[in-house]
Amino acid sequence: MATIFTKIINKEIPASIVFENDKVIAFKDINPQAPIHILVVPKKEIPTLNDIEKEDSEYILAMYLAIKEIAHDFGISENGYRVITNCNTHGGQEVFHLHFHLLGGKPLGHMLAF
Ligand code: 5GP
Repeated sequence: MATIFTKIINKEIPASIVFENDKVIAFKDINPQAPIHILVVPKKEIPTLNDIEKEDSEYILAMYLAIKEIAHDFGISENGYRVITNCNTHGGQEVFHLHFHLLGGKPLGHMLAF
């Protein structure tokens, strides 16, 4: 089912887009949790990580390559960053279109799960 991210992909609603190619779009999170907080989204409506199929491999690879390029462009490759995917209720997923959160720009501390 289409979500707000499909509207962003289709340019029906605005977003601060930082990267785009034929497989992936990336834009700044509207509610940033770190100095750099970018959402990396495949241009295929895959609702959750549970729904990834082998045929989606090009999209998944494209997401990782986009992260690498964005991290370089934002100058955080060397210091480092965190990449997160939330899945379903316990994971805290709010938008049911697969995405990575790319977080960085300061030391992020230990990974929290509470
Ligand atoms: P989730 O909880 O599904 O992993 O993350 C969804 C993320 O999407 C949240 O961090 C939220 O702030 C972000 N978000 C929700 N709606 C919009 C929107 O319309 N524009 C942008 N740029 N981010 C959004």
